[in-house]
Amino acid sequence: MARGAETDDVGIGMETVRKKMIDLLMEIPMTARQLSQVLGIRERDVYEHLPFVTRSAAARGLKLVALPFSCMACGYQFRERKRLDRPGRCPSCKSGHVEEPRYTVRRSSNGEPGHR
Ligand SMILES: [Zn+2]
Repeated sequence: MARGAETDDVGIGMETVRKKMIDLLMEIPMTARQLSQVLGIRERDVYEHLPFVTRSAAARGLKLVALPFSCMACGYQFRERKRLDRPGRCPSCKSGHVEEPRYTVRRSSNGEPGHR
């Protein structure tokens, strides 16, 4: 960690936010909205942090995953999501009433090397 020059003028540093996200999500799965409230940042900022959180987590042998979530209109289940942000609408019924995904951080124990 010798490259800490990534701090913007946003009060709390990017690195700090990402570390906190990882710590929080290791404890309890949360939605982007909950994270934004706990961290005091905007929800859309949470989504922007997620790819970096994934990387920081990987560096610690951890893995950020979106838990399965579903469409509130038809019950369609989003299981395998490669993208971490929230889908705008359901691919099945085209409703916009899609549940917010919860994110969690797990130990990627048996170290699958570069499994993507
Ligand atoms: Zn649906």
